[in-house]
Amino acid sequence: MDPVDGLRQDGVGDPDRLERLWTPHRMAYIRGEAKPSDDTEQQCPFCRIPALDDAEGLVVRRGVLAYAVLNLYPYAPGHLMVCPYRHIADYTDTTEAEAAEIAALTKEAMEVLRSVSAPHGFNLGMNQGFVAGAGIAAHLHQHVVPRWSGDSNFMPVIGHTKTLPELLQDTRRLVAEAWVEHADHRGD
Ligand SMILES: [Zn+2]
Repeated sequence: MDPVDGLRQDGVGDPDRLERLWTPHRMAYIRGEAKPSDDTEQQCPFCRIPALDDAEGLVVRRGVLAYAVLNLYPYAPGHLMVCPYRHIADYTDTTEAEAAEIAALTKEAMEVLRSVSAPHGFNLGMNQGFVAGAGIAAHLHQHVVPRWSGDSNFMPVIGHTKTLPELLQDTRRLVAEAWVEHADHRGD
């Protein structure tokens, strides 16, 4: 299918489901985004995103030194990333405080995703360097990928009628609101 006209998403839990999850170029096309052309902060999406409003940037939580943002190229619904605001590439470049907040946001992300979508498990991790699979190697990011047995979609009703960009916005709102509730509940 031509990626340019690939905005339709029919059905969910059907054979097309994986195709939808694995066609991020469509979202990138809509948003007019591209891979950074160099490793500078000016080209870095993880440096640009915090300046956008939450919906535009798909931000689900802002901390003091780090923030959480939905992945534009989700491996699974709710796939998010925890990034320091600072443009640093390597985990060893983090300060103690940054490392602590990345860890805390990662734990909170797991709790929030469990509350909204009951995943059976998670993949957590940082790819360090392009050779290790980092898409944006210049800016550290920790992946939080919820997993289900068979990785079924957790929003089948929404998924039945909406496009991936809409799904990402729905997911962002759901996770962001649940995160606020989670923080309120803990008295943050
Ligand atoms: Zn950056």
